Amino acid sequence: MDEVFVVDAMLGRTARWLRILGLNVLYDPSWSDDRLLEVALRLNATVLTRDRELASRAASMGLSVLEVSGKSETERMRFLIKKLGLRPVIDPSRSRCPVCNGSLREVSKEDVSHLVPEGVLRRQERFWICVECGKVYWLGSHFRNMKKFLERCVNEAGT
Ligand SMILES: [Zn+2]
Repeated sequence: MDEVFVVDAMLGRTARWLRILGLNVLYDPSWSDDRLLEVALRLNATVLTRDRELASRAASMGLSVLEVSGKSETERMRFLIKKLGLRPVIDPSRSRCPVCNGSLREVSKEDVSHLVPEGVLRRQERFWICVECGKVYWLGSHFRNMKKFLERCVNEAGT
């Protein structure tokens, strides 16, 4: 049920955005094309790429592949939101860690009191932690900027 995506080295920022929207996205800029295809085959993953040659190799191996178009990050995410039918809304209980693709788990203030700055602890009520890398997330100013970015992605007029 949980579809896996493998993203090429040119789409690092896109990989992070897709994880934030809850997709299971594997990305490693050190992978060669061969290695990437091998991983995708093993997991029956969908390949997302900007590289036409890689896209046609993936397709010839029977992999499902999406050639990502768009010159800017906004255009690329607009394209993917449409193509993959994504809800452009950030819900941390569904998000994956943008850094490592781990699952996020909601934790109490007490659990993270030693991990986040005091000001943040005072202002925020909800926290999530990545079960893989331990990074802590909350809905701060960074989150508001992310929301604005996603709004631009769904608004056709914006770039
Ligand atoms: Zn993580």
